[in-house]
Amino acid sequence: MVILRMVKLEDNLGRRFEKLRISLLNSCNFSCVYCVAENFQNISTDTLRLSTADRPLTPDEFIRLIEAVHRLTGLKSIRLTGGEPLLYSDLFPLINHIQKIGISDIRLTTNAYYLKEKASKLFDAGIKSINISVDAVDQDIFNSISRHPNTARVFSGIEAAVKTGMDVKLNAVIMRGKNDSQIIPLLEYATELGVRIRFLELMKMGHLYHSENGLFFSEKEILAIIQEKYPIESLPRGHAETANYWRASNGGIFGIIANESTPFCHDCNRLRMDSNGFFYGCLSNAHGEKLSEYIDDDFLLTEKLRGLLRLKQPVKFHGSELSMRNIGG
Ligand code: SAM
Ligand code: SF4
Repeated sequence: MVILRMVKLEDNLGRRFEKLRISLLNSCNFSCVYCVAENFQNISTDTLRLSTADRPLTPDEFIRLIEAVHRLTGLKSIRLTGGEPLLYSDLFPLINHIQKIGISDIRLTTNAYYLKEKASKLFDAGIKSINISVDAVDQDIFNSISRHPNTARVFSGIEAAVKTGMDVKLNAVIMRGKNDSQIIPLLEYATELGVRIRFLELMKMGHLYHSENGLFFSEKEILAIIQEKYPIESLPRGHAETANYWRASNGGIFGIIANESTPFCHDCNRLRMDSNGFFYGCLSNAHGEKLSEYIDDDFLLTEKLRGLLRLKQPVKFHGSELSMRNIGG
């Protein structure tokens, strides 16, 4: 085995891989309209069983890859996502293994359908920060966006997570004519719970890549709706943050993740791995590298990581055919 110490893996804009997002599996119990196409065949519906053809990596396989990348890049944090990560049956052993390799900042992104039952166990396992997707307070709107008949469970999941004391952030993808009416109700719901909410501009990923569907709702339009009811003040942006934040006069803090209107490629520090072990340097590039083939050769692995870093956009996200369910957002 060829072993190198950590080398300087940095591009000419000073960008490094500091955060790894892992899509644990590409199946989900929801079929959100912005994530999968209408005719998409859902692989797993409200069940923890997965078909063998869709077998995600085992914790050991994930760990070998994370360890190798961590050794070469000095990763600072890991976000577990999916598909729906709470459907990954080895979630808790995996969290435990990641901590053992020296990464304690482990976060999760979930649709919260199974969160009520798992929130305290996640907190005890070391998950101190969680992002929860919630696209509407109105049940009919939320059900129709998620194409799931029972999104009410999401709210008890959110509240269970808040009770544990973990840092909870809500994410809502805003689409014209579908849930733009929900911006104020979502802001008020989050404010009442004492958590931050981020509104996302629709991203042209997967089935949306080649479509002009008229659903796009811009940062400017989101701000205009909020300002009509609450004066707002802008807050400073942190390094490599995806969102810009504001404080509204009702006391709520909200962010907007505006890939189109306010791109944040210039200090992007994210590396992504899908459930089959393919790594991606940028959401706007569908090229994945199967790094397991180079795991025993740090020289080649470093070159592959350097290649992935070069795929980052200089200025602006433009989307790709990568499916969000596969790559994990
Ligand atoms: N199932 C989990 C969930 O929904 O939170 C994790 C995976 S999901 C792919 C991760 C994030 O990607 C969610 O917050 C979701 O709203 C977001 N997402 C999916 N497709 C998107 C799109 N086309 N534009 C913007 N955000 C999208
Ligand atoms: Fe599932 Fe998340 Fe995609 Fe919705 S956004 S279909 S919850 S993976």
